Amino acid sequence: MGSNKVRVAQTGLAGMNLVRFANITNNLGHFNGRDGLGAVMGSKNVRAVAVLGTEKIPFHDVEFLRQAAKDYAATFKDDDRGKGLFVYGTTAFCQLLSVAGALPVNNFRRSALEDPTPVSGDTYNEVLLKERKGCYACPIRCKRGIAVDHPKYGVDSRYGGPEYETMAALGTNLNIVDLKAIAKGNEICNRYCLDTISMGMTIAFACECYENGVIKKSDTGGLELRFGDADLMIKLLEMTARREGFGDLLAEGAGRLAEKWGVKDKPWYLAVKGRSSPCTIHG
Ligand code: SF4
Repeated sequence: MGSNKVRVAQTGLAGMNLVRFANITNNLGHFNGRDGLGAVMGSKNVRAVAVLGTEKIPFHDVEFLRQAAKDYAATFKDDDRGKGLFVYGTTAFCQLLSVAGALPVNNFRRSALEDPTPVSGDTYNEVLLKERKGCYACPIRCKRGIAVDHPKYGVDSRYGGPEYETMAALGTNLNIVDLKAIAKGNEICNRYCLDTISMGMTIAFACECYENGVIKKSDTGGLELRFGDADLMIKLLEMTARREGFGDLLAEGAGRLAEKWGVKDKPWYLAVKGRSSPCTIHG
């Protein structure tokens, strides 16, 4: 269409492979996650929808709207919470929740890290942050643009940086605190349109099933599932998006796996109606 005003909603490899928790991304940086809408697109063989608007929106009172937007922006500039979200986005939550005893660690078996500094908002700003981004016209700009120079974990910055839920789901809840590895996991999920929360929680669930002898190496294709292994996490993301080997099982999500493995009543199965819980539940 030759215009930078084109807007695209699309799914990725995970959606085309019908991963149960594949999502839809808008312009690569915004996601409709959790419940597999990307798989719905994939099931209809639709990869992307692009639109180019040509009409103007007829506002009732343009001046009022402009003033309201200015007032709203000023409110956040002067507000500590607004400032905090601008400076850290949601990335400060890992440290804050750890101190409060409400951070998921090892599939929610623990609720704090001994030292949350490696995943603090300040460490994030130092190690990953390149620019602050936001949704259209939002003054807070809580989204993170990152740059990572690393032989294994270098990222394509078009896919943005991890926010709290991803830092917890692909990070602390798997006992991984290497921000660069978490950022790489975030990039892979975003590129393939894997929902980061369901993905991380499904891996954590599988790790605990493995620890408890519910599944064995013969079920995982020889993989030893364990917490704290960043390279394993990254490998499993690739395998899930491609539905390769054990990834074909992970692509079914924790709900269906719990049913298949007969462990729906176990405390390490953390889901509601088959959908893995997010990382902000406390209990
Ligand atoms: S509208 Fe977008 S940029 Fe603004 S606070 Fe919400 S998620 Fe962040």
